[in-house]
Amino acid sequence: MSRGRTGRALAEEAGREPARVPGSGSAAQAGKAPAEEAGREPARVPGPLPLSRGELRQILEELTGEQEAELFARARRKAQEGFGRGIYLRGLLEISNYCRNNCYYCGLRRDNRQLERYRLSREEILDCCQAAYQAGFRTFVLQGGEDPVQGPDWVEETVGQIRDRYPQCAITLSLGEHSRETYRRWREAGADRYLLRHETAEPKHYERLHPPEQSLQRRKECLWKLKELGYQTGSGIMVGSPGQGLEQIYRDLEFLWELQPEMIGIGPFLPQHQTPFSGEKPGSLTVTLRLLALLRLLFPRVLLPATTALATLDTGGRNRGILAGANVVMPNISPVKNRKNYALYDGKASNGAEAVEGLALLREELRQIGYVPSMERGDYHV
Ligand code: SF4
Repeated sequence: MSRGRTGRALAEEAGREPARVPGSGSAAQAGKAPAEEAGREPARVPGPLPLSRGELRQILEELTGEQEAELFARARRKAQEGFGRGIYLRGLLEISNYCRNNCYYCGLRRDNRQLERYRLSREEILDCCQAAYQAGFRTFVLQGGEDPVQGPDWVEETVGQIRDRYPQCAITLSLGEHSRETYRRWREAGADRYLLRHETAEPKHYERLHPPEQSLQRRKECLWKLKELGYQTGSGIMVGSPGQGLEQIYRDLEFLWELQPEMIGIGPFLPQHQTPFSGEKPGSLTVTLRLLALLRLLFPRVLLPATTALATLDTGGRNRGILAGANVVMPNISPVKNRKNYALYDGKASNGAEAVEGLALLREELRQIGYVPSMERGDYHV
């Protein structure tokens, strides 16, 4: 810790309001892609990240217990200013565990021959949405691998049918990398939001996590396309993935600052036993919580989940995430029989308070820390 600078001072600095992002302005609303028009990357940077590498190190590695408590309290207050004591609930529907990709960290990777594969039919998806709607959910998150069978036409039709049945609900997709045209069709069919973690913004680290056929550049381009098409866009990282150090996290924060996403998903890296990273150690709970708090202060209005990975790493992880500034929880609304096969990592929590059947338990757990579930759509507000 440098002289005269406390965790509080750092957090106050981190909480400065960003300038607006050109990519979310009128050109984007008109469907134009400024980068394409100009033939180069547009100037989207909202000023430099208001945090130095030294300050990041202090926050992640050098805070005392008291300073950490102060950081979490500031992040909590910031979240409460924007969202009160309500925690938005999203119904998470894992629609397919087939994937054409081979990310080294993920149990759904195509080379995992031991995984029992499934894909939900449209009827199953609609049934799950109906049950979730009756339970009070007003956001459905359709997540899956990049499944060639559930292609652009199939997803478009599925989104359209959900939109017709539930015009007042938000539809979030998390289905990986696709062309601008595909994203456009899904948006027009009724999708409101899209989650696509960048995983790491540092090229060498990206190569450590992915095979050569996957590209950080393409991943970033997808995120910019989503923003330009008017999706509420989410990105994020795994904390403690193999090869990640402070420099990689700093580059992630710089990229997020440039992107100004409406949602940020971070959770600890957790190894999966059928992947090349099976022997790696999990990410740190402390670092994940401190990063959550820092993200809340850097991005006061962002929709920030306390992720299932956090709840898997630590039984109290979800509540600790909320007490560090998170404001979203995503209970699983998938058919119970399929959940064990959506094996992103080992030990994934998908029952109890992590599931639609466990809403009463979730409500009680939130009440114990002074929060309540919010069943509103919970859109991002500028
Ligand atoms: S992380 Fe996503 S893209 Fe990569 S293998 Fe898993 S499901 Fe596929």
